[in-house]
Amino acid sequence: MKVQFLGGGQEVGRLGILVENDGAKALFDYGITATDPPSLPMEAPALDAVFLTHSHLDHCGMIPWLSARYDIRVFSTELTKEISILLMFDSIKVGEAEGYPQPYDKGAVRKTMSDFVPLAFGESIDALGFEITTHSAGHIPGATMYELKGRRTTLVTGDFHSLNQRVVWGAHPVKCDDLIIESTYAGREHPDRLKEEYRFLRKVEEVVERGGTAIVPSFAVGRTQELMLLMRDSEFDYWVDGMGKTVTKLYLEHPEFLRSAKKLANARRKGHEVRSPRLRAAASDGEVIITTSGMLDGGPVLGYLEKLKNDENSAILLTGYQVEGSNGRRLMDSGMLDIQGQLEKIAPEVEIFDFSAHAGHSEVIEFVKSCSPERVVLMHGDNRELLAEPLRKLGFEVLLPMNGETFEL
Ligand SMILES: [Zn+2]
Ligand SMILES: [Zn+2]
Repeated sequence: MKVQFLGGGQEVGRLGILVENDGAKALFDYGITATDPPSLPMEAPALDAVFLTHSHLDHCGMIPWLSARYDIRVFSTELTKEISILLMFDSIKVGEAEGYPQPYDKGAVRKTMSDFVPLAFGESIDALGFEITTHSAGHIPGATMYELKGRRTTLVTGDFHSLNQRVVWGAHPVKCDDLIIESTYAGREHPDRLKEEYRFLRKVEEVVERGGTAIVPSFAVGRTQELMLLMRDSEFDYWVDGMGKTVTKLYLEHPEFLRSAKKLANARRKGHEVRSPRLRAAASDGEVIITTSGMLDGGPVLGYLEKLKNDENSAILLTGYQVEGSNGRRLMDSGMLDIQGQLEKIAPEVEIFDFSAHAGHSEVIEFVKSCSPERVVLMHGDNRELLAEPLRKLGFEVLLPMNGETFEL
């Protein structure tokens, strides 16, 4: 089969893997990177199908552009479908507010809704001249790896995590000949999750004891729920605000994709959801607020910070990657935040925690070994060489395709 990265080869984000086999063309993911303005992948040719791995914008964000042009079917889990649609409509809203040129309109998203074909985990279909089977990718609920069985077997991981998280079980390796695998954390290891959770809870305790509020900016999809599950097991009083509330509701409607729907439902009941300005005021006097956006580029988090920006007792606990150029990165580098167009000095202390949903360096190597492929294609990483070298030493053939380059598997 012929493979070409339309984006997401030597970079984290805007993934699009174009596959041509048996006279048919399909994409595995087609996303945008939410930079300022957003960066788009290369234009896709006419094709028949999209296999969507999961509901993050850098994987699903450009699919409506395809729906508006081509007659396609979009395969994914039901949960991925519902959350992707939510994010697509939201990205139009954000684009309008920021005045970005839009790659598609609401009509295109509605067309995408009708293009979806839901798949359960373990289900197989015939497409592209392969038997294609879905497997859980860990990462976030509903995230899928695709196994393509033909003359050879290929596994496309999308984003994956092999270790268990509170919200979802880790991914299991799949034996294959060719492995197309993400490498976001090439050269970087995660701290032990339990120790990191402990460090996080001790910091919250410190902030609460000195009379402050712990503001936890958090991505709506996956991270918010992971943090709710952590807070559920703590003694702290916590509030949840932003789009994460809707995502939690959708997760609970699809319990089969969760590690424990019962615990998540309980975490939702035990915390408080902010549903009105009155509750928002109460939340800003609370102990912990989990809210979007994760990189402080909008969302209710900025409202809370407007109120608490001079409070030295409060703290901002960052729990996700802060991309270059984001407001969160500015905060890390300079202690300043853009709040409604004004650059403000922020008094609360800033602390960074690693609750990543991606496999770390060693976990990727272990996963590759267990899949035991002949060839490994590293993608979705800006430091791929750091993984290529140890993998080559272990005897694997490693490919590092650049965006736009076509190669054969
Ligand atoms: Zn990604
Ligand atoms: Zn992802």
